[in-house]
Amino acid sequence: MTRVSFDNMKKPTSYSDTRGASDGLALFSDVVIAGIAPGGGLFVPNTLPSFSLDELRAFAAMPYWRRAAAVFSRFGVDFSSDRVDVLMRRAYGAQWDDERIAPVEEVVAGMHVLELWHGPTSAFKDMALQCMPLFFSEAVERQQTRGQLAEDFLVLVATSGDTGKAALEGFADRDHTSIVVFFPDRGVSDIQRKQMVTQRGDNVGVFGVRGNFDDCQSAVKAAFADTEFTEWLKTKHALRLSSANSINWGRLLPQIVYYVSAYADMVAAGGVKPGEAMDVCVPTGNFGNILGAYYARLCGVPIDRLICASNENNVLADFIATGVYDISERAFVTTPSPSMDILVSSNLERLLYHLAGAEAVSGWMRELAQDKRFRIDPETFRAVRELFVGDFVTNDESLCTIKRVYDETGYLLDPHTAVAWEVAERTRGENPVLVVSTAHWAKFGTDVLKALLGLTYESDLPSDYAGRTGLELLAEVQAIAPHAGRIPLGLAALDELPVRFTGVVEPGRDGVEGAVREWLG
Ligand SMILES: *Cc1c(COP(=O)(O)O)cnc(C)c1O
Repeated sequence: MTRVSFDNMKKPTSYSDTRGASDGLALFSDVVIAGIAPGGGLFVPNTLPSFSLDELRAFAAMPYWRRAAAVFSRFGVDFSSDRVDVLMRRAYGAQWDDERIAPVEEVVAGMHVLELWHGPTSAFKDMALQCMPLFFSEAVERQQTRGQLAEDFLVLVATSGDTGKAALEGFADRDHTSIVVFFPDRGVSDIQRKQMVTQRGDNVGVFGVRGNFDDCQSAVKAAFADTEFTEWLKTKHALRLSSANSINWGRLLPQIVYYVSAYADMVAAGGVKPGEAMDVCVPTGNFGNILGAYYARLCGVPIDRLICASNENNVLADFIATGVYDISERAFVTTPSPSMDILVSSNLERLLYHLAGAEAVSGWMRELAQDKRFRIDPETFRAVRELFVGDFVTNDESLCTIKRVYDETGYLLDPHTAVAWEVAERTRGENPVLVVSTAHWAKFGTDVLKALLGLTYESDLPSDYAGRTGLELLAEVQAIAPHAGRIPLGLAALDELPVRFTGVVEPGRDGVEGAVREWLG
């Protein structure tokens, strides 16, 4: 058993949950393995660190992995600081295409872009998923050594594109884990499909599902709920299921790090005066990324306004405007920023817990389940309004923004970042703004090409582009936009990599379970 020691905290931080059902004693390693709390709530830390300005400024001189290790240690994770160092060097190492990991670029005066897409899959999910599986794997090993756990874990993921690839990359060849990903066979882009079906690693599986993302998700959920199946996994294969999804605290903590890091870089580069505040504008889906900024703010990072940018699925912008979260009559819209297409923003529950407490949250979540809507009380609403600004951008507006910003600055935005950029411009006040960029443009090249050609979202590409692969379309983008820069290596090689996975299964529980059984052999 490793002896645990801490730099700045005497005891490891314990966790409660947003609905008040757990005993409040769980530690970081426990909550990473458990994912969701008993009773369906989300784990939240019982104590938070507080960073002084000197401490924040000192981060600027450190490599990113050391910044991450320092933040984790200050959050009281139950791993020795030596182990945290080892894991962070691995998480934020040579697999990133920029050694700064999460660099900040000032694109126009006062508007700084935080680039979160330098990881192996070229999108922001890498920030968390290059890190969390290392801690997960180590936590499992420790519980097994102590005799608290007999099984390894099988991570099952339903994906509409980005998350699946980032999770595959994160869990590939990690001890004590394996991962099987299901994606809608016709519902992902050429590049997204190739990213997944060429995935390396001995512990990974990838299947298409004949259906849409909803079909994938409900089939995977049904497999989780099938006790006969989970018992079979346990007894025959010594495996437990895990989802490793974005409500896992192990994915949230790495998302606090880059706000701490960005503030240090902004001060060092003169983008903000020491101690003065920046605004943060985040393209938001499940509310995880912007919640990282909220926690950073709680911990003393000088952040003034938290600007929540939505696409046409604007339930959050409405919530911030009205205090009512209402999906009772809301239709799901497809947009060029699919990773923000969401109706239930799960991580919002953590914000509401910190503002109103477990009892209020439990009530609201019950209302949401029953009536598909809830209204927060006036006091909590006031607190939300003091912290958050919300706005949304239509599909065509986001494409126009890509073209306009490129024409004006030579910086090419992906469609998710374009939503944040547009909202940041509209809501700008006195403070410098950190616009959070969540994907490299090449990940969503077809819609970026449409934008540069001045097309609307609904229109098709002109017929001379018919039959091109995703990568060939990226070359067209580069021809039109010479300052766009190079294609990230992980994407550029895709047409040459061997396809490892070709399986397609029927939608529904049996399809998913059959795939897993076959994959396990
Ligand atoms: C997941 C994702 C988002 C949304 O982040 P949340 O944490 O769910 O709010 C935005 N952009 C991209 C590219 C993503 O992959």
